[in-house]
Order: sequence, then C-alpha cells, then structure tokens
Amino acid sequence: MIGLLLALAACSPSKRINKDEVQTLQNLQSHIQYLADDKLEGRRTGTNGEKLAMEYISSQFRATGLQPKGSDGYYQAFEVNEGKQIDPSTQFSINGILLQAGKDYFPLAYSANLKMEALPSIAVQEADMPWFVDLKDGLDENKNNPHFDLADYIYTNCKKAKDKGATAVILYNTSATDDKLVFNGKDKSETLTIPVLYIRKEAAAKYLKDPSATISIKFTVSLSEKKRTGYNVAGYQDNGAATTVVLGAHFDHLGYGEDGNSRNTSKEPAIHNGADDNASGTAALIELAKKLKSSKAKKNNYLFIAFSGEELGLYGSKYFTEHPTIDLKTVNYMINMDMVGRMPDSNHTITIGGYGTSASWSSVISPLVSNPLRVKIDSSGTGPSDHTSFYRKDIPVLFYFTGLHTDYHKPSDDADKINYDGIVRVLRHVTNVVDKMNAEQKLTFLKTRETQTTTTARFSVSMGIMPDYTWSGTGVRADGVSEGKPAQKAGLKAGDIILQIGEYKITSMESYMQTLGKFKKGDKPKVIYKRGKDNLETTVEF
Ligand SMILES: [Zn+2]
Repeated sequence: MIGLLLALAACSPSKRINKDEVQTLQNLQSHIQYLADDKLEGRRTGTNGEKLAMEYISSQFRATGLQPKGSDGYYQAFEVNEGKQIDPSTQFSINGILLQAGKDYFPLAYSANLKMEALPSIAVQEADMPWFVDLKDGLDENKNNPHFDLADYIYTNCKKAKDKGATAVILYNTSATDDKLVFNGKDKSETLTIPVLYIRKEAAAKYLKDPSATISIKFTVSLSEKKRTGYNVAGYQDNGAATTVVLGAHFDHLGYGEDGNSRNTSKEPAIHNGADDNASGTAALIELAKKLKSSKAKKNNYLFIAFSGEELGLYGSKYFTEHPTIDLKTVNYMINMDMVGRMPDSNHTITIGGYGTSASWSSVISPLVSNPLRVKIDSSGTGPSDHTSFYRKDIPVLFYFTGLHTDYHKPSDDADKINYDGIVRVLRHVTNVVDKMNAEQKLTFLKTRETQTTTTARFSVSMGIMPDYTWSGTGVRADGVSEGKPAQKAGLKAGDIILQIGEYKITSMESYMQTLGKFKKGDKPKVIYKRGKDNLETTVEF
C-alpha cells in the first residue's frame, strides 16, 4: 500500500494536486480499494457485500463526526420487490406420484394459492372440476404469427375456463412447437381466483398420455412475494441552519450480474467491482463530508447519503424521498455524484446535469476558473441516477459524472483504472459550488425537460416516458413524461399507468420493452392506461 502511494505521489506533478489534497487523494484510494475489492462481491443490494460497504461508510461518517440520520442509526432499510416465488410447500402429485416443482411442473405467477384434491378425466371439461388444457391448438394455429403472445393467450384462456366453472387449470403441451414456458415471477397479471399449473413436456408424456383416463390429482399451490432489503446510509452535519443541502452517491453495484443489468459478454458469472460505478462517488462523498465539516460555509446543514438499490432502479433514493428523515421542504438543493472516477486526462472534462433546475446554478458553475475543468452542461433534472428522485420532489439538483467508458457495467470496472486526480478535481468543484451557494438564499426550483431513458434507446420507437422501476403493481407507471414525445402528445401524464399498447397487455417492465420492440415509426396503436381509479384510452403515434 505505502509503496503504491509513493509511486503515485511521485508521478503526480505538484501543480495538479495541492499539498493539502494529497491526503484526500490517498483516502480516496483506500476507500475505492476497499469498496471495489472482490471481498465485497460487487455490493449487490441485499447481500453481505452491501452490508460490508454499509459498515465501512457508516464508520467513516462516524469518524468524521456526522450524526446518524437514518431511521435506525446511520441506516435506513427499504424493500425491493422481486416479484413472486414458489414456496417449498408447493406440491403436486398425480396418481400418488409426487412431481418435482420446477422440473416437472410449476404454478403460474398469477395462480391462486390453494390446496385441492380431485378425480378429473383429462378429456372432459365440466363445471366444478379442474380442467386440463392442451396448448397445442393455440401454438399450431399461430405458428407463423409474429404477433402471437403466448403468455396473454394462456391468461385469457384461464380466465375463460374459470368463467365456465373450472376449479383449476392444468396446462400442458403436446404440440411439436416448443412453448419455452418458464416460471416468470415478474409477471404482474392480476391474480386469478383459481390455481393454474403447467406440466412440462416429459412429465405430461408420462402422466397424461391417455386422454380418456380419469386420474387422481392432489396439489398445493403456495406463491409468495419475493423481497430483499436494502439499506441507505445517512450522516448529518447540523449547523443549526434553516436549510439543508443533501449530498449523495449510490454505493450499491451489480454483484455477479444476477439482476440482468450487467453488460458482461461472458456467460460465466463474475464479480462486478464497480470501482467507477459507484465506489468513486461514494469515496468522494466520504471525503466531501470531511471537507464540509471544516468548511466556513455554515448557512446550511449537510446531509450525506450513500444510497443502495440504485442499480435496480433508484430504489434507495426513491424510498428516502418518500420517507425522508428530515423535512424535505427545508432541503435547499441536492448534489449527486455517480461515476466520477474516469475523468479523461486529455481534456479534464466533466458533465454536470441538473443545470436547468435552478436559475442560480449559472452564477456558480461557469465562472469557476480556479479549477481548470471543461464542464459540459446538461440542463435536465432527470437522468439515470439518484438526483432524479429529488428533482421529482421539486428540489434543485446537480449531477456530477465523468463519462461512460467500455468497462461500464462490466466485471472490468476495477480500481486500477480510476483517475484519482480527477476525483480530487471533482471534489474541488463541488466544494466550490457549496461554498459559493452559502451566500445565496434558498434556491428556487425550475422544471426542466425530461431526458430519455437508455432502456428505450434500443428500439426504433419510444413512448417518451420515464418508467418507475420501483412500481410493483400491474402495468408500467410513468414517473415522468418527455416533452414533445409520443406519450405526452397523446395526453399521458406522470403517474399514469400503462396497461396495454395495441393488442399487447403490459404486465411488467419486461413485457413493456418487448412490446415496444414490436412497433415501428408511424404506427398508431391504442393505449389503455390507468389514471387514478379510471381506465382511459388514447392513441399514441410513434
Ligand atoms: Zn450503474
């Protein structure tokens, strides 16, 4: 460690880093080396790696003299909803032979939780009995239909069966077409009042081969909500002021890539250390707390929050703004640092977002000549990080970011690629802004345009909404609607829940994205959405 620091200090020209910043630089190195170590296994929300990171950050806050400002000491717990899971008590036997859950069969996510025993015959569909439904007809008829949505077909047919008196639906497939059905816990279709089970091909061939037979079935379906708990870490510097500045950075990352948000090209799971994303911002936050502790700028209190759940869709910051530990009306502004560790040495460029969220920013951001940085301005108060949650509460924000790179969301985002000197420059800039704003009154908030989310960029069409990733109900809820984009032109507003586009039901984030992939520019599908208690309809033009 010491050798490394000496080597680095030796190759940093004294002009670039002030003497008193050498300690800061060394601290940043040890924070990032710890947070981005394999021992923390990628700091995935809800894991032991997250816990080790929380302990590290809170002990740093404590050492700096910050007061605990979570809901439980420095910590603030929140839940991440992961959809449904099959409980171990789920059982299914045919003629006394126990089938294996997952391998031989599975209940569908919208199945009712029920226990049942019956003696149905496979070929007979009568009221007050379980029905066997072969997917063969639907699959064969739609073999060449690119718009065929099997999930929707099954759901619709289960509802019909229920209306005709079926007490349960047992699905199987004798067609040569592979149905590719797997248990999809993220399917948020409304739960039915009857159980629905699917028997896989091999098991169906074994137990359901004689359609005229009467068989003895016995099953228990038990599905429950799958949840994990994440934790924000919050520390407070009370200056006895009327207003508070929130400084934030998320500390969670992708773990081994289990949540499907990795760009790892190899099939092998690997630890995503997230040195830039966002051990860099977390380390900067810890050092910023020390700087502001000794700062003369005391006209605001300072609340430092390390957020978790960001990579899953801003869960931590959203939870905080819904369950704040200080009065949000007293928040003057919020500064977020996410991925500040890769400043290019060639041009020293940083991007600062949120510039349009208050007219006051122009007075402090451009004239900072003492800190030679090229600043790219982005006016929008929204973006793919936690400041968005504060912007949604009408709080002026700034978002510091040193740019995307090829290691983004890959296992190769490691500590040895960090530009520590660059983080020191970012810190200098943030500290300058906070110092200069100290002389100002509480900032006035301005609404800005919405930025497009990256998730829709892959498709040829987009709705122009910012989806609420934390929404756990049916459909896709819009957190925001972009100016001049199809959704806004069709009259959709923030808070609306999209239930159907064209003929496609939107049951989850996944089905929303799949659906968008089915349209092209110029298409004018009907959109069904929920506003308050009403289901409304409009036409969107892509
Ligand atoms: Zn990320």
